[in-house]
Amino acid sequence: MDQGELSMDKILLIAHTEANGSLSKASLEALTCAKDLAASLSTTFAVGVFGENTAKALEQIGSCGAEKYLSVSGADFKDARYATDSYAVEGIYRKAQASIVIAAGTSRMNRVIPGVAHRVEGVAELHVSSIAGSATELTATRWLYRQRIEAVITRASRPWFLGVDSGNYTAWTGSTSAVTAESVATEAPAACKRSKVVGLESPGSGEQTIKPDAELLMVAGAGWTKKQADGTVHAQEARKTILGFLSKSGASLGGSKAMVDLDSENREAFNFMTHLNQIGQTGTSPRHQKGLSTCCHGEEPHAVGWRFINERRAVNLDANCGWARGKADVLYVADAFAVMAKVNELLSK
Ligand SMILES: Cc1cc2nc3c(=O)[nH]c(=O)nc-3n(C[C@H](O)[C@H](O)[C@H](O)COP(=O)(O)OP(=O)(O)OC[C@H]3O[C@@H](n4cnc5c(N)ncnc54)[C@H](O)[C@@H]3O)c2cc1C
Repeated sequence: MDQGELSMDKILLIAHTEANGSLSKASLEALTCAKDLAASLSTTFAVGVFGENTAKALEQIGSCGAEKYLSVSGADFKDARYATDSYAVEGIYRKAQASIVIAAGTSRMNRVIPGVAHRVEGVAELHVSSIAGSATELTATRWLYRQRIEAVITRASRPWFLGVDSGNYTAWTGSTSAVTAESVATEAPAACKRSKVVGLESPGSGEQTIKPDAELLMVAGAGWTKKQADGTVHAQEARKTILGFLSKSGASLGGSKAMVDLDSENREAFNFMTHLNQIGQTGTSPRHQKGLSTCCHGEEPHAVGWRFINERRAVNLDANCGWARGKADVLYVADAFAVMAKVNELLSK
């Protein structure tokens, strides 16, 4: 299909259920994306859901306005497994015969989208930040080179599979409503089940500190591990304060490079901090509404990872730290140990 036939594009959203049977925020954001695109192209869209039991998820989005609902529901599709996930996605695609397939860029989806696109002789784009359509052109944007270049992509080939990164669209909300979904499959062929999922392991201490959906990002810098005014390191107090704040606030935890590269002396006290927590040029650029930096200097290679954080505050003893130079909305020149202990006390109330 070429761009001249754009008005004939058929849009399909594919989503997987979460462990509790519902759809994730990322999938609801992708739903908004599909719905918006359908509206701008004056067309309809279909939704396909796969998982162990899709009933709850389908009901959750039952009033989203989709023209058609498709379902791959069964025990074989409970866990993320390439063969069964790609079987489900391919089945939904073939049933819907869509030309534009949108999915949330979750790790589960990103793993299968390129393979399925290849199998059905389509093309794929991952890490998409927006999709826009007009009567003459469909474009997808994505960031490259650590958010320094924004690419605007158009493709003539169809089907076009697009994995949309979380944080770019508002999650769809609406009332639950019962829907009648067309069942595409309830089990996968034996050949798809040679790999067995035996369990899930999280990196680090086992405590889940990275929460992309949290409103607040708390960043802990190397200052927490440094000698304080009394000439000693307060590693255990720092651990208690940081973890206490995380559990009370539900914030996601980020770290500076200096913090995640800790020496062995401090490693045990801060074992909840891994390289996955690193924010910055060689780390990640998360998307949270608010950010609170503590004991971190706010140097450019770190602060560059804050580009998508909307409201920024920092606590640092140094009035000349990087945050003071236009990188934070509010800088508290104060002892983070004292400030965060007080904050935890207030949160406990
Ligand atoms: C190519 C390159 C890529 C890099 N990529 C990254 C990256 O992705 N992410 C990253 O983080 N860094 C990155 N860096 C490193 C970066 O330049 C800094 O070295 C690093 O961010 C410093 O970490 P920090 O601010 O936690 O530690 P420090 O520079 O040691 O700062 C600690 C801060 O804590 C404050 N402090 C101490 N005690 C207290 C207290 N009680 N209360 C309040 N404040 C206190 C101090 O005043 C100080 O400002 C990169 C560097 C290079 C060259």
